[in-house]
Amino acid sequence: MSRVCTVCAHAERHAIEKLIVGGTPNRRIATHHGLSEAAVRRHAAEHLPVALVKAQEAEDSAHALDVVKQLRHINAAALTVPRDAKAAGDGELMLKAIDRVHKQVELQAKLLGDLDDRPVVNVLVTPEWQQVRAQILAALDPYPEARFAVAGALQC
Ligand SMILES: [Zn+2]
Repeated sequence: MSRVCTVCAHAERHAIEKLIVGGTPNRRIATHHGLSEAAVRRHAAEHLPVALVKAQEAEDSAHALDVVKQLRHINAAALTVPRDAKAAGDGELMLKAIDRVHKQVELQAKLLGDLDDRPVVNVLVTPEWQQVRAQILAALDPYPEARFAVAGALQC
């Protein structure tokens, strides 16, 4: 039985999608826009990438480009956190920051991968990811155990 997605049907759908991509917690988006947390989560996982591809196909690429721009902006901001945490010697903050960057890169890879016409997109060989990975591992130098765990998770 199919149900209508309350986010897809929402008058402020584009604003909601920007919040999702910007990393605003689903619960907060749901509360602000009168939605259920599950609806926001489902929309982000199942409908958002499709919506971006459709927008591009319909040459309504302004919205898709807007979302990608937002994503890049957030990435740049997220990358400064591990550097700051390293300077402050705050290992716990750094691990949280790295986790955030990792999620962000995954999200970007998923969205940009869906937008890309090429049949195979291997995010692991992109210069952007190489740079992020190098920065993460360099930042973890003072924490050998964490570095080992992260290196394993990143398969490098
Ligand atoms: Zn939806």
